[in-house]
Amino acid sequence: MPVLSASEARFEYTVDVVVIGAGACGLTAALAAKEAGAEVLVLERDTKPTGSTSLSTGLIPAAGTKLQKSLGIDDSPELLAGDILAKAKQQTDAAIVRMVAEASGPTVDWLAEVHGVAFKLVEGFLYPGHSVLRMHGTPNRTGTELQGALLAAADRRQIDLVTGARATDLYATADGRVTAVRYARPDGTLETVGLKALALACCGFGGNKEMVRELIPEIADAEYWGHAGNQGDAIAWGRELGAAMADLGSYQGHGAVATPYGNPMNWGLLMPGGFQVNALGQRFSNEVRGYSEQAVDTIAQPGRFAWNIYDEVREKPILGFTDYDQVAALGGIRKAPTIRALAQMIGVPADALEATVAEVGELCAGRGEDRFGRDFRGKEPLRAPFCAVKVTGALFHTQGGLVIDTATRVLRPDGSAFPNLFAGGGAARGMSGPSRWGYFSGGGLLSAVTQGRSAGTRAAQIARGSN
Ligand SMILES: Cc1cc2nc3c(=O)[nH]c(=O)nc-3n(C[C@H](O)[C@H](O)[C@H](O)COP(=O)(O)OP(=O)(O)OC[C@H]3O[C@@H](n4cnc5c(N)ncnc54)[C@H](O)[C@@H]3O)c2cc1C
Repeated sequence: MPVLSASEARFEYTVDVVVIGAGACGLTAALAAKEAGAEVLVLERDTKPTGSTSLSTGLIPAAGTKLQKSLGIDDSPELLAGDILAKAKQQTDAAIVRMVAEASGPTVDWLAEVHGVAFKLVEGFLYPGHSVLRMHGTPNRTGTELQGALLAAADRRQIDLVTGARATDLYATADGRVTAVRYARPDGTLETVGLKALALACCGFGGNKEMVRELIPEIADAEYWGHAGNQGDAIAWGRELGAAMADLGSYQGHGAVATPYGNPMNWGLLMPGGFQVNALGQRFSNEVRGYSEQAVDTIAQPGRFAWNIYDEVREKPILGFTDYDQVAALGGIRKAPTIRALAQMIGVPADALEATVAEVGELCAGRGEDRFGRDFRGKEPLRAPFCAVKVTGALFHTQGGLVIDTATRVLRPDGSAFPNLFAGGGAARGMSGPSRWGYFSGGGLLSAVTQGRSAGTRAAQIARGSN
């Protein structure tokens, strides 16, 4: 991923704004840049743009949206920012969090009203760390649907999207101004395009096993469920350019990916009183801290798996989520009239599972303290029929990346900004702080769409000389 001297670049045409990567961040950046009057070119390495965005559940938290207001939900950027900072134990850039929180409502409204993304609010339970209902998703709650809606919007705006175009090299002047990008076509030919501003939207390094092993060894042996093409290219260019980077050991894990199906099981099964047990029928953690930190706890169990234990009351709000419905259709959701029968069905010791359920029942009634620190008080104890799904832990995407300012400009270690280089989404430092425990539910797409919109708008302004 070299950065070459601008004097070596040979190209026949120049566009205002080049965006590298066609996931949620890149497509949002392209829509915003076009809206701001720029000529935009998106380069995407895959022949069919999917990204981690397509693999996700497609849920975006946002505060103060018209949808929330129509349902009488009182939310604000301050409340959202407070929730994100609390999850990250204040160990992230508060200015970026505030910028993202303030942009969240207007960005989701803009995607809905201007670009036709059909959001609905997820109701029935709160995600870990969320004070109010604020998860916005497309009707089937899939990332494929969100990605499809963004691609359709880009198509309607006649945005030039070159697929099968892996950006390999940047050309830059000595003062860090990027002047061109070289990209490889599937047949190996190289093409170069000149540019006035560049937005890096090529996500993190989850698909690069060596980088994950070097930077986040604790999760290197877990399965990676994000996009394989996310190879850390933004970080490699950043290193060559001398950009600042932060939180490279941080990531979004998930502690309940249905196995062997590969679908993330919604945390709404656990938040209202469901829990996880290992193959011995024993709980092993506070499940509601968050799904990211749960990944390492789940894979630390015998056989590297666990069971989500819940009932049809907790299942009801999750029916209709495609990820869940698919596992159910494939027979992955086990149901039984008694805990003993469920234990026999899933092959865990019945006495142990009965004891665990009884213990949780006591905690729900306010008797005793949970040894893992979870507060069950006021939750309904599980009731028949009982349900179980086998799960494992996984790496979803990396959270470390290029340090940006609130205008999404890539920064140097001394805090100065590169003149025409922007980054967002998984290419930039996330809002999770330094480790696995700081990931705020939905923080990935929230960063992608808000920072993408900002990066596209600012890049267009720089390119057109109006900044
Ligand atoms: C299973 C799963 C569930 C998730 N659920 C949620 C959720 O519900 N809510 C949420 O907020 N987040 C969720 N996430 C995280 C979310 O998917 C990511 O945070 C988000 O998609 C990042 O968007 P992005 O545009 O930065 O990256 P991506 O969507 O990954 O797009 C990056 C694109 O860049 C392309 N690219 C990479 N390198 C190059 C190159 N050199 N040249 C050209 N193109 C390149 C890639 O091919 C890719 O298409 C989930 C992730 C996973 C894996």
